Order: sequence, then C-alpha cells, then structure tokens
Amino acid sequence: MTDILNGYAATAPGALLAPFQFTRRHPRIDDVVIEIEYCGVCHSDLHQVHNDWGNTRYPLVPGHEIIGRVIDVGATVTRFKAGDIVGVGCLVDSCGDCSPCCEGEEQYCLNKPTPTYNGVDRHDGRPTYGGYSERIIVSEKFVLRIPDGLDPKAAAPLLCAGITSYSPLRRWNIGRGHKVAVVGLGGLGHMGLKFAKAMGAEVTLITRSAGKEQEARRLGADHVLVSSDLAQIGLAAGNFDLVLDTIPTPHDLNPYLSTLRLNGTLVLVGLIGPIAPAVHSGLLVTGRRSIAGSAIGGVEQMQEMLDFCAAHDINCDVEMIRIQDINRAYERLLKSDVRYRFVIDMESLKSRPAD
Ligand SMILES: [Zn+2]
Ligand SMILES: [Zn+2]
Repeated sequence: MTDILNGYAATAPGALLAPFQFTRRHPRIDDVVIEIEYCGVCHSDLHQVHNDWGNTRYPLVPGHEIIGRVIDVGATVTRFKAGDIVGVGCLVDSCGDCSPCCEGEEQYCLNKPTPTYNGVDRHDGRPTYGGYSERIIVSEKFVLRIPDGLDPKAAAPLLCAGITSYSPLRRWNIGRGHKVAVVGLGGLGHMGLKFAKAMGAEVTLITRSAGKEQEARRLGADHVLVSSDLAQIGLAAGNFDLVLDTIPTPHDLNPYLSTLRLNGTLVLVGLIGPIAPAVHSGLLVTGRRSIAGSAIGGVEQMQEMLDFCAAHDINCDVEMIRIQDINRAYERLLKSDVRYRFVIDMESLKSRPAD
C-alpha cells in the first residue's frame, strides 16, 4: 500500500477541481482504513471550494458523504474488520468530553467537532481531507456500519442530506397522528418526505413551483402546497405540528409560521444568515409557536438512521457521476439541476484522464 493517495482538490479560490496527490496520517490503534467506493456531492462542498464561507484552507479535498470498504483496522478496533462496508459523514472527531459529546451530540461539540475535510486533526495538527479520494483513515468511533440491504451508492447521501432531515423529525418525536410539512424539494427535502412518511406522519410538500405533485407523491407526500399561492397557504393556517424548512437561501418565514398549529415548530436546517424579513412576534406568541435550528446528527443517531433506512427500504435518489465530471456537476448543482444528489463512483479515479 503506497502512502501517496490520489484525489481531486481545489487549490485556490475560483480554481476548478483537479487531480491532486497527498498523504494521510499513518493509522493509529483506533483507526479504520477505508477504500472509498462512493462519495456524495453536497452543496457545502461547492461552498467550500468557492470559499463562500471565508474559511476554506487550500488545497481542499471535499466530500463528506463517504461509503467504502474497510481494508485495515488498528489494534483496538472491535466493531469493524477488513471487508466491511462502512460510511463516514461530516465529522471525523470531537473533544469527547463536553456535555454535547457526552450526550452523543458530537455535532454540537463545544470545542468544535473536527470536520471530515477543511478541518485540522486534533491530535497531529494535519489538515483533514475528504472523500473525493481513494482512501480515508478515521477513528472507529466516527465510522458507521452500512446495513445489508442498503444500496451502498444510494446510501452515501444519507450521511449528510439524510441525517440532516432525519434528526429534527426524531428530536420532535414525529410519528403517527402528526402533520409535517417539508419546505423545498432538493437533496434534503426529498429525504424529509421519505422519512416523515415512514415515521407515520401525514406529509405535505411546500414548494415554490407548481407541477411537482406526482413527484412529491412518489416520494411520500400526501399533499402539495404551492408557496407562492397565498390562498393555498392561508388554507393551511394552524395545520402542521412541524415544518421542516430545507431552503438554503434567505426567505420569508412568516407564511410558514402561520401554517403551524398550537405548539408547532418550524425547524431550519439551512444556514440562511440573519432572518429577513423580520418574523412577526404575533405569529410566535399567539400559537406558542417556535423557530428552531438543527444540524446533521450525532454518531449514534446516524447509525439509527441507517438502520431505519434498511428496515423501511429507504434510500436517496441519486445520479451517478465520474470524478472527471465533478466540475460539470457543480455547475448543474448551482442550478438545482439534480435529482436529488450526485454521487461520485470513485472507481473512476483509477481511470486515466483521457478515458
Ligand atoms: Zn453536506
Ligand atoms: Zn465535545
């Protein structure tokens, strides 16, 4: 096994992703060495490549929806062995001591969890590189078991898009008798429909554009509301226990708040910056409504979600691409032209650029 790894990286703001060679740490006793087979393409990959959040460290190897096969394990690893199909999501480490970490909510680690890429390893100070590469080395604690019965390539986006939708539905104990609205039909939204339906809720898709009824129903929606149609939104006033808002850009929350019933909660899963226009306090006070946020999920809950997906035959709808097509895929992602997630077949990394 050579130490030099092949991957794809952006080397400067504005640069296209291109072949890149790098090294990873030597495996520690608690490490799992994973040969990457598939990697989902998340919108945050694109943001980080473009340095949209101002914190990108170049060279950047993106990718945090990783599925692969274990090829080696450290001496203390007990849960995995060579040959196992495993997953790695957005995080590869956390402090392990703070109260969120002790509660299994590593994503809210008070000492900042270590991201799978664009982070710094807490032990050796080396940069972390993501899944657009042939191999990754991750502590056993942050490695997920991919259950039999899940198609590994379609499972990749569960590790970010999936858990981001699943976690709030569990946090607010969604089940039979609840009414859930999912706002937006992208990577997150289409998973939200599937999960809420499988949990037993009555599910509504709220979307900007008409004509998505058939597709929404295929994904689990019982009803579809068009958000630009104020009459439709008005008819839904006081209706939902939970609104799962997956829109990734700034937008008016007031119409959605009005659709919540008493004690209902609107959960934001997108980082949309300051909320504008302002939220009218009357919408919160008169129905004891809440606005909340939610970020991915802890390791334990991610495993729960993967097992839930296997039990309910849920997968992400994916479009497979070769790594050589990644820059074109980013262009399409910018136009929301994907149903519903690109997944890179990392086998393509082995082919010559001219292939
Ligand atoms: Zn992501
Ligand atoms: Zn912590």
